[in-house]
Amino acid sequence: MADKFDVIVIGAGPGGYVAAIRAAQLGLKTACVEKWVNKEGKTVHGGTCLNVGCIPSKALLETSHKFVEARDHYAEIGIEVGDVSANIAKMLEFKESVVTKNVGGISALFKANGVTALEGTGKVLSNSKVEVTGKDGGKQTYEADNIIIASGSVPVEIPPTPLTEGLIVDSAGALEFTEAPKRLGVIGAGVIGLELGSVWSRMGSEVTMLEAMDSFLPMVDQAIAKETQKLLGKQGLDIKLGARVTGSEVKDDEVVVKYTDSEGEQQQTFDKVIVCVGRRPYTQGILDDDAGVKLDERGFIFVDDQCRTSVPGVYAIGDCVRGQMLAHKASEEGVMVADIIAGHKAEINYEAIPCVIYTAPEVAWVGMNEQQAKAEGIEIKTGSFPFSANGRALANNAPEGMAKVIADAETDRILGVHIVSQHAGELIAQGVIAMEFGSSAEDLALTCYAHPTTAEAIHEAALAVSGHAIHMANRKKRK
Ligand code: FAD
Ligand code: NAD
Repeated sequence: MADKFDVIVIGAGPGGYVAAIRAAQLGLKTACVEKWVNKEGKTVHGGTCLNVGCIPSKALLETSHKFVEARDHYAEIGIEVGDVSANIAKMLEFKESVVTKNVGGISALFKANGVTALEGTGKVLSNSKVEVTGKDGGKQTYEADNIIIASGSVPVEIPPTPLTEGLIVDSAGALEFTEAPKRLGVIGAGVIGLELGSVWSRMGSEVTMLEAMDSFLPMVDQAIAKETQKLLGKQGLDIKLGARVTGSEVKDDEVVVKYTDSEGEQQQTFDKVIVCVGRRPYTQGILDDDAGVKLDERGFIFVDDQCRTSVPGVYAIGDCVRGQMLAHKASEEGVMVADIIAGHKAEINYEAIPCVIYTAPEVAWVGMNEQQAKAEGIEIKTGSFPFSANGRALANNAPEGMAKVIADAETDRILGVHIVSQHAGELIAQGVIAMEFGSSAEDLALTCYAHPTTAEAIHEAALAVSGHAIHMANRKKRK
């Protein structure tokens, strides 16, 4: 038997690495097992988020956005740059450098905080033991008072479009295209589809998105979703709703995708196809037969509100458990579990977890939308404000979008904030903080906002809840 630890974390994504650092900060002897190996054969930390998710996708979203700004919009504000061209090889190099810096940062943080990094594949055995199989196949068993499983998720694959090297790819494959495919098919108009569809559309692809559902972004307030669909459509994303993919055929370096919609059977030919129809929990080989940890009916590791599994001393966090598959949700759960193990009281307010889609403009939301509130029979009042009436948005040459505040009609408590605008992902923090503090719409309305800022649109939306927006001509009548 090798070393004994207070805590062993399996997986070093944003759930696992944050849990490990927090546990070590709290004085617990902590190890973190990671099996992810990069192209050079080196074990790297950061999981999906840093290696093939949040970080590389944002690097490509930023570079492709800057390219379009320079090519199509600089002249509008008086900057003449002549012919602008994109060097995709250089963009990919930049993306890789961002990933390398980020994953290197985690290893440095492990060292600084005294987390023992174990390289290999972890497996939960019975009686608080973890078996680690190294790259060379050698096995080592460790004992731990507490185990945190943070094994993450992998893309869902669907039988009609099996992944096919270089032609039908998942999100990781779509971060590696060396040129913009002329005709790009995107299956699923969810978060990944919209982000990666935007990247390649900006770089020149004709993008068609096939979305099975009839509604667009149902988790977002439908006023905001409709505005987003209109704006993304104008940018060239052809979003086909109610389009259920039924099959595909690969021939001569092309993919013919078959789908059904309200008009019957259809087909469309693409040079490349991205399948992004959701992700599923990754638990393969992580639980020994007699580990005793139960899965739920959808294959997630079953946990309670505080991420305790069915086995005392074994916790699970992040994408491998219920809830939204978001890096910051995984990290918050990591902190909560480390705190609980260290004997502190800790909990997460799952009602106040923000979501952001990093298109341009960005879509960001927290809490309920109008449709959800009504479906639950909650009486609400809402206030909206367009960025076209916000001075800073006009000065930024980014007047698209709107902000909406949803409040309880009786108590005025904020139930949700939904935004589509430039930097909506930054603006939404106000909604999160307001909800975390149980604020009313009036609390935001009575707050002083710096001028000129796009944040003032949130202020105006909060004022609009009671009909008091200042910069809106057709505002509700003052009560
Ligand atoms: P992961 O990040 O998946 O990490 C799990 C780790 O566990 C991996 O490193 C894996 O190798 C390791 N592991 C698994 N099994 C074992 C084992 N047996 N032994 C050892 N190690 C093991 N979320 C956001 O919040 N914002 C975004 O902008 C965003 N963008 C995204 C873009 C894309 C293209 C994708 C695919 C995802 C994106 N996400 C985003 C989602 C985000 O990446 C995940 O929610 C997040 O990574 C989940 O963190 P995690 O720690 O639970 O799992
Ligand atoms: P998603 O759930 O956001 O979207 C998948 C879409 O595919 C849905 O709209 C669904 O209706 C559709 N779909 C499912 N089956 C289909 C079929 N057969 N044909 C056509 N459409 C079909 O999932 P995703 O975009 O794959 O992303 C996975 C997860 O990763 C998300 O849940 C999200 O939590 C996370 N993520 C977050 C961010 C971010 O925070 N910015 C970015 C990327 C990914």
